Amino acid sequence: MHEKTKKLVIIGGGAAGFFAAIRAAELDPELDVTLLERGAEVLNKVRISGGGRCNVTHACFDPAELVHYYPRGQKELLGPFYRFSPSDTVQWFENRGVRLKTESDGRMFPVSNNSASIVGCLLSEAARLHVKVIKQQKVVKLIPPAHAHSLWQILTPDHTWQAHDLLVTTGSNPTVWQMIKNLGHEIVPPVPSLFTFNIRDNRLTDLEGIALPKARVIIPHTSFETDGPVLITHWGLSGPAILKLSAWAATALHACGYQFPVVINWVGRDPEDLTQDILAFKAENGKKLLRNVHPFELPARFWKKVLGYLRFKDDLQWANLNKSQLQDLVAQLCAATFQVNGKSTFKEEFVTAGGVHLQEINFKTFASRKVPHLYFAGEVLNIDAVTGGFNFQAAWTGAWIAATAISSQPDASPANR
Ligand SMILES: Cc1cc2nc3c(=O)[nH]c(=O)nc-3n(C[C@H](O)[C@H](O)[C@H](O)COP(=O)(O)OP(=O)(O)OC[C@H]3O[C@@H](n4cnc5c(N)ncnc54)[C@H](O)[C@@H]3O)c2cc1C
Repeated sequence: MHEKTKKLVIIGGGAAGFFAAIRAAELDPELDVTLLERGAEVLNKVRISGGGRCNVTHACFDPAELVHYYPRGQKELLGPFYRFSPSDTVQWFENRGVRLKTESDGRMFPVSNNSASIVGCLLSEAARLHVKVIKQQKVVKLIPPAHAHSLWQILTPDHTWQAHDLLVTTGSNPTVWQMIKNLGHEIVPPVPSLFTFNIRDNRLTDLEGIALPKARVIIPHTSFETDGPVLITHWGLSGPAILKLSAWAATALHACGYQFPVVINWVGRDPEDLTQDILAFKAENGKKLLRNVHPFELPARFWKKVLGYLRFKDDLQWANLNKSQLQDLVAQLCAATFQVNGKSTFKEEFVTAGGVHLQEINFKTFASRKVPHLYFAGEVLNIDAVTGGFNFQAAWTGAWIAATAISSQPDASPANR
């Protein structure tokens, strides 16, 4: 077998690293593709993701809509999603024998309901295309090519790897970010995203497990506001609306040490509209007790808690609800303020906001605008999304485009540069 002349080294054996390696090797059989992974195992996050089922992508097939799920990367990902979108992801896996299915909320999983299908597919494709997957190679230093005819030097404790092109897919690893910084890139400071809110408040006690499906959550005096289900937990509040808010406000909430007020509109209704509905209900149900009937779609335990908090008597009839009681009721349902004291991890699932500054990346190629022959994909970039399969989609898209760009370059062997 003749020696391949052009070398690509990819650092990081996660979702982005494998997807890029496979794409590059497939496009250019003459490319020598080496994937360096610091751990003893590759694809660890893919394996544990989505509770072991791997939420591969999301059934949102319009790029203009898809980008709205990305608090960081929204503008930059639009063009890339037109080139490699969730439908391409579905097709890519289906072409390789892994069918995906869509759940009612749009999340897409392998039909097997087992992340092993995804891991197995990526591993066997990499092997089929002769990608060299080298484990326990923790990259500790990067030396860029000294001039146009030399190569990258990629140092691990016991080896120096050489490459014409370098693709970094190391996820959120602070030591790699420092190395990238040393190459001249700006790193947006990392902060956690996707977390739940810790709240101790009598209004939530003994209500754990209750979900309010149409809530609205607001952080007062900011523009942060989300809609959707809110779940009451032992520690405070969780559910899609809370997780979305944690992602959009990740940087601001980190800055205030996760101590902030949050206003919950439990019914997601405008206070004036709700007041009118209550008055209409009151007119027709005057003799009935508040504790027995009400015009809202609320779990019974939750409703009793609201009445107890407002100190409404058990025998209060709708006809006797006075103006100030009506106002208090509307305020509790539409604008209940809670103090958040800290955060908790959501089912061990989290992502990091922050990473390589997006202004320094060419999103047609995912190449560095600062350093020639350097590319990035996945969570190492300052890109992250809400839950639902969007984070993997960003990894697949970036990896596919970077690998396409690398493989489409003219022969990069020193003689031809
Ligand atoms: C528990 C959990 C569940 C999740 N579930 C989902 C989900 O269902 N759907 C979804 O879309 N997102 C999910 N996410 C987020 C998703 O896993 C990440 O966004 C995604 O894995 C990012 O891929 P990546 O390839 O960029 O980085 P990673 O998957 O983090 O891979 C980076 C790789 O680089 C290696 N590496 C780091 N430094 C070095 C070094 N110096 N030298 C060599 N190798 C190095 C690491 O060991 C790792 O293998 C989940 C996250 C967690 C934590």
